[in-house]
Parts: sequence; C-alpha cells; structure tokens
Amino acid sequence: YLANQEHRESNARSYPRRIPIAIKEASGITVKDVEGKVYIDCLSGAGTLALGHNHPVVIEAIQQVLNSHLPLHTLDITTPVKDEFVEELFSSLPEEFASRAKIQFCGPAGADAVEAALKLVKTATGRRSILSFHGAYHGMTHGALSLTGNVGPKQSVASLMPDVHFLPYPYSYRCPFNQGGELGEQIGHQYVQHVLDDPESGIVSPAGLIMEIVQGEGGVIPAPDNWVRQIRSITRERGIPLIVDEVQTGLGRTGKLFAFEHADIIPDVVILSKAIGGSLPLAVVVYDKSLDQWAPGAHAGTFRGNQMAMAAGIATIRFIRENKLETNAAQMGNRLISHLKEIQKNSSSIGEVRGRGLMVGVEIVNTQLKSNAIGSYPAYPELARQIQQECFTRGLILELGGRYGSVVRFLPPLLITEEQVDHICGIFDEAVR
Ligand code: PMP
Repeated sequence: YLANQEHRESNARSYPRRIPIAIKEASGITVKDVEGKVYIDCLSGAGTLALGHNHPVVIEAIQQVLNSHLPLHTLDITTPVKDEFVEELFSSLPEEFASRAKIQFCGPAGADAVEAALKLVKTATGRRSILSFHGAYHGMTHGALSLTGNVGPKQSVASLMPDVHFLPYPYSYRCPFNQGGELGEQIGHQYVQHVLDDPESGIVSPAGLIMEIVQGEGGVIPAPDNWVRQIRSITRERGIPLIVDEVQTGLGRTGKLFAFEHADIIPDVVILSKAIGGSLPLAVVVYDKSLDQWAPGAHAGTFRGNQMAMAAGIATIRFIRENKLETNAAQMGNRLISHLKEIQKNSSSIGEVRGRGLMVGVEIVNTQLKSNAIGSYPAYPELARQIQQECFTRGLILELGGRYGSVVRFLPPLLITEEQVDHICGIFDEAVR
C-alpha cells in the first residue's frame, strides 16, 4: 500500500509523510493497520472525531438514513433531517446568539465555510480588508490561505488575497505581550488599538476580524479570556464584524461547547465544521442576521446537502450534550496537562505545556542555544519530529504543529478516559526520555 502511494499519490500529500500506515479498522480511540498493529489515535481526523471512530450512535444515525427513503444528497433543499440538524445546532448555541442568528450551509470543508464568511462580511459592510492573526490557520483555499499566518504554505503560491492585515496573537511562550499577566494582556490589547489607529498601518475600516479562540495548527495557543473580551469590545466599538473560527474548537473540544463561551462573548459570525458532521464532511456559517445582506442565491455550491453528515451531526451533538462531554474534555485535558507538566520537570527539551480542554500542545525547544529576552528558547522542530516518531513506533499517533513545527499536539476524542490519558502520557514520557 505504501509503495503504491509513494508511486501514485501527489507529492503534496500531508499526514502519510509522518504517519506511514495503511489503516484497515478503527474503533473508539484506536486504529488498526493492515498488519494488525494497533495505534492510539490522538489526531482524531484532525479534531473531527469528537466521539472517536465508528461510535455506535453515529453508525446508527447513518444507517437510519440509508434505510429510509431520503435522498442522500439534496443540494441545499430542505429535508426533515436538515431541519432537525439546524434545531439541534441552534439549541446548543448560547440563546443570545441563536435567537438572532442565521445559518448558511457551505461546501463540505472548513475552508469552504471560511470563504463563505469572508464573502458574507465583505458583502454586508461593502469593505475589503480583513484582520487576522499571526499563527492563524483557516484552511488551504485561496481566501482561507490568505488569512493563514504561517508563511510556509503560502510561499509557493503567488498573488493571494491582498488586504489582509496580521495582528500579533498572545502566544504565551514567545510573545512579550502575554508575559506580565494582566499588564501583558493590556499591552496586547492596546497594541491592536494602536495598529488600527496608525495611518501607516494601511488598515482602513476592515470588513471583519477573524480569530481562533485557541489556535490549533498555529501551535495550540489559547488566547486569554480577557484579551478575547478586549478584541470583542474593540471590534464592536469600531463596527468590525467579529468572525470566530470554531472549525477545530467547536462542540466541546476546549471544555465548553463553543470556545467563545470561555470569554463570555457573542461573536457576529461563527464558522463550524469538523465535529459537527460527526466524522462526515459538513461545514456551516452561523451569523447575526443583521449581516444577511447578500442576495438570494449569492452563495451557491453543490455539496451542501449530505443527509448522512447531518444525521451523524445530530447524533454527535446530542451525545455530547447529553453526556456533557465538554466537561469530560475539560477534566481530561487538565489531567493530561498536569501529567505533561510532570514530564516537563524531567526534560530540558520541553519549553511549555499548554492547552484548553482536549487541545493540548507541548513546545519542544533547544535549551543548548541561548534564550531570548523573555526567557524562551529557540524551537527545535527536528527533536519534536523525533519525539513524534518515537511515539508512533510505540503505537501513539500524534501530530506536530506551530509556526516552526515544534509543537507536539494532543487532540484525542472527547470521550477519552482517565486510564487512556495515563497510558498516553506513559508512552509520551518514554518517547521523550
Ligand atoms: N479553520 C481551522 C481553525 C482549522 O483548524 C481548519 C483545519 N485544520 C480549517 C479552518 C480548515 O478546515 P478544512 O481542512 O476542513 O478545510
């Protein structure tokens, strides 16, 4: 299988480069390859598999659709399943937002929903520029890639969307804005205000500001709640629609159903994908109806009616809410973080352990080199890669992320247990040693 892939598949293939297996079976938190080796999956389809692989409620929901006479695909024409999906999703959003929100079904991927959100705010405001953040990740299509902070994937693609301005994100390990607790956060907030006011910054009335509440691909960086609240008040004061990208954080992953709830803010636009399709492709934009100023039919697209994805999504959202998996994510995330901090005490290569809920990252650094003014050491992507490979050999699938590729990321299914967390940490400890 692997030789075939090497031979036939595009050079641009992504995960197989570091996870060179052919997966034959999967169940819960594990996958089994064609040779029968079992791996613990802490990648979860890049955060998609909230309930793990092949959860019975998801399988049953899909089977019910298959055994009904529903069409599998309906463009965006309404069906009872679609109606139920919208009801379920809206009832899981804070009432203050849901009561004045509308939904747009998009193409199947997160990036499709990001593109739709861009068009939505540009149409509603008549403005052109967008504010984003250093380290942001919003997808690989042209518009979404333009908003992505990491320059790596952009370098070889000429002429992306102009008029995107990047602001500094409170990257706790490396950013001085976040070093001094409250004072640091205040400086971060004042800096954003200063950039918006500085005529030399070239920013003229943006159409929107897009942010992740916890940067995922950017290196698992949770933004402090206060800072998020300040960004909300700056954008509100200036009439800039606030777009929160919850593609990865949404549906319980960070310890709340939606990550923006930590800071108790209400965004103008929320982008959702990954977990909301219960492992099948689905993406939506939910937004304040005052922004609904695009013409009827202005945002079309073929694959917005996958009934199996909606049914799997309903089952997933319901299961998460009924079993309070967001609380489990918070508790297991704290357990994971405290174990990893213990491992950090015995390792000179771990610069920081951080995260929120079950989005956890370990920043691998080179302490042989000189630290900078705020005491952080240079990133050590080669060692991070080696640790990842040592974990992989021991049957633990983890992914890397961050601006330098030096953050080991833990993104397990939300129903992970204490025993599984402890087991994973045991493997990680051994790999680090
Ligand atoms: N936004 C965020 C925050 C993401 O993490 C991702 C995917 N990792 C995307 C957008 C893009 O989603 P997709 O890969 O489905 O296009």
